Amino acid sequence: MASSIVLFGPPGAGKGTQAGNIVRLTGKPQISTGDMLRAALSAGTSLGLEAKGYMESGQLVPDSIIIGLIEERLTQPDASDGVLFDGFPRTIAQAEALSEIADVSVVIAIEVPDSRIVDRICGRYTCASCDAVYHDTFNPTTTQGTCDECGHTEMKRRADDNEETVRTRLSAYHSQTAPLADWYRQRDLFVAVDGDQDINTVSASISEVL
Ligand code: ADP
Ligand code: ADP
Ligand code: ZN
Repeated sequence: MASSIVLFGPPGAGKGTQAGNIVRLTGKPQISTGDMLRAALSAGTSLGLEAKGYMESGQLVPDSIIIGLIEERLTQPDASDGVLFDGFPRTIAQAEALSEIADVSVVIAIEVPDSRIVDRICGRYTCASCDAVYHDTFNPTTTQGTCDECGHTEMKRRADDNEETVRTRLSAYHSQTAPLADWYRQRDLFVAVDGDQDINTVSASISEVL
């Protein structure tokens, strides 16, 4: 089995921001369960409808839905040489299911204190065309309103990127996701990088790990 990488960290840690660089370095495709769920939601599929309430309130979507989504995604040909998981697994049950279907070679945890998370998430916006990730203060587009990556001029913000929902997401992270750190440490797969630095410094730390 070809080996996969897991990008781990609280909401707003910078997983999506760092994923592009890892994809370039490794050639592995990015699989973001959050992006897949949002695509299902906007396509109006039954899976999207099932996930909607959880996502809007900031709770985790049930494991059975997530595991089904991942199992199906991993059957696609581009996943055969391993992938980059972004935002998955988020529970021990998801990690156990993953261990049955893929070989994880390293879990890269981007560590950011809670005190930074609300500002990061409440300032986040993305390109409506290519999903490049920006921030009002920390990483704005060079020309206001125009995507640096693709030149598109429409930006979007996520419905769940508000202070109240962020607090729920953070508490879900601490109670359900953070215990995975020890689970992966016990398997010698866990490597932490300091995510409380500028974007390029975090990228350099991750490149070193890889
Ligand atoms: P995640 O995928 O982990 O939820 P994102 O990559 O979407 O996180 O980043 C959340 C927000 O924080 C975005 O607006 C992004 O531009 C910004 N951001 C990412 N990394 C950093 C960093 N190292 N310093 C400051 N802001 C950052
Ligand atoms: P972030 O990293 O910024 O919190 P994501 O895009 O990864 O955002 O996730 C958005 C929402 O989608 C989560 O709050 C949760 O409701 C749902 N979600 C995404 N991935 C998972 C997962 N692996 N398990 C359970 N729920 C998930
Ligand atoms: Zn773009």
